Amino acid sequence: MPEFLGPVAGFGVTFKAMFKKRLTEQYPEYKKPTAPRFHGRHQLNRHPDGLEKCVGCELCAWACPADAIYVEGADNTEEERYSPGERYGRVYQINYARCILCGLCIEACPTRALTMTNEYELADRTRESLIFTKEQLLAGLEEGMVESPHSIFPGMDEGDYYRGAVTEAAPGTVRQVAVSKGEKPDENVVAADGTEIGPDPDAERDANVAPAPGGGTPAGTGDEA
Ligand code: SF4
Ligand code: SF4
Repeated sequence: MPEFLGPVAGFGVTFKAMFKKRLTEQYPEYKKPTAPRFHGRHQLNRHPDGLEKCVGCELCAWACPADAIYVEGADNTEEERYSPGERYGRVYQINYARCILCGLCIEACPTRALTMTNEYELADRTRESLIFTKEQLLAGLEEGMVESPHSIFPGMDEGDYYRGAVTEAAPGTVRQVAVSKGEKPDENVVAADGTEIGPDPDAERDANVAPAPGGGTPAGTGDEA
């Protein structure tokens, strides 16, 4: 093409584009639905009674190619139980400044505690705010669930939970006091229907009982962390 026709050819591209269908996405006014299996923000799932599925095994962290997951496990106690088995995830963080949403972590999880939602609006202004904590990642409570920590369903063991034998919290299940997180025994006792029922009666009774000979520290108040 002769050199003097260059600018005209450039306008030709513009002119042709004027008659093409517009591809502009009207985001954020209109949010295009994702594919059903789109890899978005992670979620830490619960059992049907509200106990957590994560056992703090760290397999997801080891599987992550971007080193975006940090997990610290801890032991459950009968006084402060977060999951049906021996261990639970005490600290759980995902750094979305690093995560590439590849999904290898959810493949590695042995309990299906970790899955991915379709949520993709993860941008923020600071690096700190892109580190999602366990509280942010934990699934919300559905009907029949009681917030953890709370006791295991009477007569059931960890295997029964994974076989689907537990379908909701046992009647009378109340949230235990999260002593390891700094809560005091007279705080946050919640009934299965979500209503606060005041101080933990067990804690009050224990406070009035003389210490056993030989002393000792009650389970759940030590440094399980
Ligand atoms: S989706 Fe991939 S990059 Fe993101 S936390 Fe999981 S394994 Fe790591
Ligand atoms: S999310 Fe799954 S793989 Fe990760 S620590 Fe918890 S149980 Fe283990």
